[in-house]
Amino acid sequence: MKPSAAPTALAGRLARLIEASGPISLAEYMHMAMADPQHGYYANRQALGAAGDFVTAPEISQMFGELIGVWCASIWQAAGAPPSFVLAEAGPGRGTLMADLLRATSRVTGFHRAARIRLIETSPRMIEAQKQALAGFDADIGWVGALPELEDGPLILLANEFLDVLPTRQYVKSGPVWRERMVGLSDSGALTPVLGPNFADPAWLPEGQDKEGDGAVFERSPSREAFVEMLAHRLAAGGGASLLIDYGHAQSGFGATFQAMRAHAPAAPFEAPGEADLTTHVDFASLSKAAAGGGASPSRIAPQGEFLLSMGLRERVASLAAGKTSEEQAHIVAAAQRLAGPQEMGTLFKVFALASPQWRDAADALPPFAPAQSGCSAD
Ligand code: SAH
Repeated sequence: MKPSAAPTALAGRLARLIEASGPISLAEYMHMAMADPQHGYYANRQALGAAGDFVTAPEISQMFGELIGVWCASIWQAAGAPPSFVLAEAGPGRGTLMADLLRATSRVTGFHRAARIRLIETSPRMIEAQKQALAGFDADIGWVGALPELEDGPLILLANEFLDVLPTRQYVKSGPVWRERMVGLSDSGALTPVLGPNFADPAWLPEGQDKEGDGAVFERSPSREAFVEMLAHRLAAGGGASLLIDYGHAQSGFGATFQAMRAHAPAAPFEAPGEADLTTHVDFASLSKAAAGGGASPSRIAPQGEFLLSMGLRERVASLAAGKTSEEQAHIVAAAQRLAGPQEMGTLFKVFALASPQWRDAADALPPFAPAQSGCSAD
């Protein structure tokens, strides 16, 4: 790889670290590039929106947060409307989903009064944006830095495009073993992937590992699994349910999905750490196991399009479009297609839920626990 013409401050720090103590794992690289408090991506970049690097579902249309609000209020009511519960969102971005959710549930009797709204966020810059988005709501709203800081009691936790930013390790088939891919330095001093001395435990790998050829890649995210297992423990202890939405696959498999996005286009992932969004696709099958291991029931893994249609996307389009100009109506329909269309976000994005044993019956009545209704294909 060519040395970057203008390496970022973080690239310089990483190069010195690697020079001093050897290559770092891809997970460490992702963690520093994204979360470094001084030079990390979320500390410095305006990540989201048209002027940022990528656009997320809540930024496409208010309907996304509204339908998730319907899910939250429905499960809360079905679980007996506990008079106090934590309504948390992990990685809330600009706060758009939470704002849409709160607006959509403002007439659900007792819901806002019972909710202690907690945003789990590490970036001071994002917290500022969330404060602005939620300033108009008369509710108990607070911020925490991590899941274990939430108060005890029943919990409804949401996360959209949060899991994909948590660090991932990569293993590359080389001969009979899978060696960990690390980030080292090229002869010219640029950050570059290298094979490290560590091997994957064959038990982590999905079926078919013997059939893969040299150079095949397997990705594993211990941070994501730990987050979901911790969440499951927490739900099992206090009761509750959770909705996790992200792009990824329902079955574990092989293939490299590590990618960098900058200004809505793919970028070179090792060139400018701290200036591009680094993610991998989420392996939902591994998270389903982690959920069960932590004592919560995992739902099936549903495509986002099917989930939104089951939650009433068509009806929401109709009521939002009523009385609007034809241009506005076309805009609403296009947004719904973007969220649910099979060629757009409807299939690649998945919805995965967890429920505690106490909330399992309440969850069973709702997607993605409930089977898909007929007529809910996103075509
Ligand atoms: N959910 C939002 C934003 C997704 S971007 C949306 O759909 O628009 C990812 C968000 O996760 C950002 O707000 C980022 O600052 C936050 N984040 C990244 N790492 C985090 C961590 N370890 N803990 C909490 N939040 C984190």
